[in-house]
Amino acid sequence: MAIAPSASVEKSSTPIAPVRAAEVHDSFVRSLLDSIPEGLVVIDQTGRILAFSRAACEMFDYTEDEVLGRNVSMLMPPAEAAHHDDYIRAYLMTGRKRIIGIGRRVMARHKLGHDIPARLEIGEATISGTQLFLGYLRDVSEREEQRRKLKMVNEQLARASRISSMGMLAGAIAHEINQPLTAIQNYVETCAALVSAEGPLDRETLRDTMETCSQETARAGEIIRRFRHFMASGETEPARESLSKLINDALVLMLAGGEGTDVQIKIELDESCDDVLGDGIQIQQVVYNLARNALEAMAGLENRILQITSVCHAKMIEVTVEDSGPGLDEDHRKRLFTPFGTSKIDGMGLGLSISQTIIEGHGGRLWPAASALGGAAMHFTVPRMAETGQTES
Ligand code: ADP
Repeated sequence: MAIAPSASVEKSSTPIAPVRAAEVHDSFVRSLLDSIPEGLVVIDQTGRILAFSRAACEMFDYTEDEVLGRNVSMLMPPAEAAHHDDYIRAYLMTGRKRIIGIGRRVMARHKLGHDIPARLEIGEATISGTQLFLGYLRDVSEREEQRRKLKMVNEQLARASRISSMGMLAGAIAHEINQPLTAIQNYVETCAALVSAEGPLDRETLRDTMETCSQETARAGEIIRRFRHFMASGETEPARESLSKLINDALVLMLAGGEGTDVQIKIELDESCDDVLGDGIQIQQVVYNLARNALEAMAGLENRILQITSVCHAKMIEVTVEDSGPGLDEDHRKRLFTPFGTSKIDGMGLGLSISQTIIEGHGGRLWPAASALGGAAMHFTVPRMAETGQTES
């Protein structure tokens, strides 16, 4: 590559003859290209490839000879390649930087035609009056694949935990559904009695009874709808969700079946922020897990209070689920987020570790504290969504 001898080589303490200096310089550049861990692609202002590191050869599966002198667009997918020369020209004319010094994720076109996700950083240099662009490429496909797998495992884990909750919920649901079904049966029998009664038909009572019957049917349907929604395995994109609705739905599910109905439930949400950005089902699951833990911790106690509050912060909303139970002792606190760390005979010890994974997946935090109610206070944060549809900044 035609790069002029660098100043450091020329200033070496041992005087070097010019010819020798050029050789030293060439072998220095050669070893740099061979050893640099990133794929380095050096181009001139026409986009012509002047140097190609060994890591770049490995990444793209090209030999140096196959790429030197050719336009760098050969290393890009067609959509990018078509505009690359224009990008360089526009930059040279306006000095406006799109990627130089910023870096971004790009797709790199492999010799065999498939695309590799890569992180690209671009630097500039002027050597012997020639403007050069140095592109440093790091293959991030493995990292992205790991992230994808991790996300999949998390989703499966979260689903497993929902299914384990389903065992608990199934009894409760059966109980809850039984109420409207019993009511429907009574109302239908009343209707039958009204229709077969002697004398004029009492249309008004008949209509009212049928309406009530219809409301009870809707109630049963709503319980099933919530249950199915909760069990969905769905890999969802983050969306705008109403925090108050998620909390409400989680509590309705938790209380289905009558258990916990004698618990005093206080909900005080900050009205100035309700919209969160996230996976609604997952956030609902976190609230469900925390509220369920609070309920279980208070089992058998006289004074049972479950309190859910929210506070707006600049970018996040902080939710606190607290109770008047026995609280967390030091030993519990240490094992709180360790999978299978449970103090319950039938507990799985997964709820909190899954909740933590979900919250951290949303860029938030989940942490325990002591509650003024006497028990535990579990705090978590989720991204807040602004009116504009953006997360708050
Ligand atoms: P599980 O509920 O299946 O035990 P979790 O991961 O949800 O699993 O909870 C782990 C442990 O943390 C519980 O077994 C309990 O000992 C403790 N814990 C969680 N929440 C509370 C709470 N609100 N009060 C007291 N202890 C709690």
